[in-house]
Amino acid sequence: MTDKPTLISIEAVTKRYGGVTAVSAVSLEIKQGEFFALLGPSGCGKTTLLRMLAGFEIPDEGRILIDGADMAGVPPNKRPVNMVFQSYAVFPHMTVADNVAYGLKIDGVPKAERDARVAEALDLVKLADYGARKPDQLSGGQRQRVALARALVKRPKVLLLDEPLSALDAKLREAMRVELAQIQLKVGVTFVMVTHDQDEAMAMADRCALMNNGTLQQCGTPWDMYEFPANRFVADFIGNVNMVEGTLIEDEPCRALVDAPAWGTKIWLDHGVSGAAGSTVWAAIRPEKMEIIRREGDRPAAANPAAPAGSNLVEGVVSYSAYLGSETVYEVKVGTQMLKVLRPNASRHDNDWCHDGAPVWLRWAPDAVAVLMA
Ligand code: ATP
Repeated sequence: MTDKPTLISIEAVTKRYGGVTAVSAVSLEIKQGEFFALLGPSGCGKTTLLRMLAGFEIPDEGRILIDGADMAGVPPNKRPVNMVFQSYAVFPHMTVADNVAYGLKIDGVPKAERDARVAEALDLVKLADYGARKPDQLSGGQRQRVALARALVKRPKVLLLDEPLSALDAKLREAMRVELAQIQLKVGVTFVMVTHDQDEAMAMADRCALMNNGTLQQCGTPWDMYEFPANRFVADFIGNVNMVEGTLIEDEPCRALVDAPAWGTKIWLDHGVSGAAGSTVWAAIRPEKMEIIRREGDRPAAANPAAPAGSNLVEGVVSYSAYLGSETVYEVKVGTQMLKVLRPNASRHDNDWCHDGAPVWLRWAPDAVAVLMA
């Protein structure tokens, strides 16, 4: 994806509403044919950024280029973009086919071409047999697909999607995730989707931008964001994480050591972290990267024989466990903190593997840890 040409350049864009800075000096590049997600908690500025791409809001500072053209002064209807809204706004009195044809009719596209393009768009969203129906004879998911067809039929360079699945129930939302991603692949149009749901962004997007308080926190693939978070906010927002404050006591190109008194251990890494010795850092470990071991006999060996004695291993007590079928989630009390650990249920007889109140060890490999400076 990175070798694709840039389609959208957002250059140091700021937008203020009175005293509120909704978007603060955000710079981003979105590639041609990419499925891009603008992600973040409520109020972080993601919708404002999408609306600036659409031309419904004007940046106070910075500029937006689409396909090399500066969008300053270009009204929404003259931009090579189309928007699909949260509440699939379809005209209730028109048939599905007329809804999809509407924009083409306004643009003066001749009837024969219009009919062919409407048929193609309805086929794409799997509604080929529904053209004569009215929207109230459709399910929520089908209505959302009509809205999608109506936007795609105009062949925009960019499709902007504002929380497109949020009006659907959980099951349908999951099914539509796959459909939407498949449609995007098929048409190759650049999709920019706003969502507050990190699972949705991870499942559908090639790359995401995570925002908080109007600022860009990190931009990357779902893998980048999950495995290599840029800071504590990203580590915490994307997935679950166990995080501890510590002091960086050693930092060499191929090893680093963090003292984490709250967990009663030292955290050893088999790579450097480019920090100053003595500085405060945060070590972040994902629940599936911690191994839970029943504390019955001798202290287990370190997960890596090269690790200094006593590192990457902590004592804890299981305070709660939840069997989820494919895995069990353990909440383990370590010092005053509660850590989360996932254990895959590899055997069918694992249900009584560990009871609440059981003493355990938690162990992790030296490459399981992300060390964060901020
Ligand atoms: P949500 O997920 O809740 O829609 P969001 O991340 O999309 O949130 P925005 O809608 O972009 O956030 O809003 C960012 C900030 O700008 C918020 O503090 C919001 O209250 C403010 N804001 C947005 N639009 C306006 C407006 N038209 N007038 C004044 N303030 C606004």
